[in-house]
Amino acid sequence: MSSVKSSAIVLKSINWRDTSKIVTLFTREEGKVSVIAKGARQLKSKYQGILESINLLEVIIYMSATRKLQILGQATLEDTHQKIRADYEKTGYTFALLELTDIFFKEGSVDTVFFDFLETLLSEIGKINNPRIVFWYFLLKLSSYLGFRPEFNICTTCNRSIASEEVGFSIREGAIICNNCGSSADSGWKLSVSARKSLSDLQKLNHKRLSSVSISLDNRFAFTDFLLTYLRFHSDEKLELSSLKLFK
Ligand SMILES: [Zn+2]
Repeated sequence: MSSVKSSAIVLKSINWRDTSKIVTLFTREEGKVSVIAKGARQLKSKYQGILESINLLEVIIYMSATRKLQILGQATLEDTHQKIRADYEKTGYTFALLELTDIFFKEGSVDTVFFDFLETLLSEIGKINNPRIVFWYFLLKLSSYLGFRPEFNICTTCNRSIASEEVGFSIREGAIICNNCGSSADSGWKLSVSARKSLSDLQKLNHKRLSSVSISLDNRFAFTDFLLTYLRFHSDEKLELSSLKLFK
């Protein structure tokens, strides 16, 4: 058994037996790790209020390759992301980010870059007026990360760069199809000039500056539906995010 010290974001936490909790952590040094926090539900537990979703912690974990659940040795609260918790909509979209991270990261795959990316997005959600922008940005970047970056500017068939025309988007090809090359029969998604510009602009933003740039979005376009449909098709995950049901 070895001990590991790491920054960690709490993805979720469930009660376990009478007094403990099982906590899913996204750690910087070890990737996703499920730990048991013994006695966490006892009144005088050192973990009182610490193991809540969204919290950023500094943890010590006792790791053993032969166990499925690791043991939480210590957890210190670094950031509760209070600006997120104070806002219902920000909380919902943050839970959606954490749910997606939980779905797409298997235990044992370490990615420090993605950890830093996620932690930056949490602080940007705290600061931004419209948290949906961070959510859509995350869905776009997650698609790229998983190897199917959508293309909004070049027709997949003729490789022509498309300026100002409404075009179809092929979910399967992951790219637009211009009107000379055919219809968007395989998906039914039409991208207006402004929706396409919104998506393309979002894709180019720097994640550290999301809350400080202004981006014009086509309010008639169903970004969440479009991006989740796309991710669902390419990942074979159902993606019925319980966090988003808060908004229905
Ligand atoms: Zn074309």
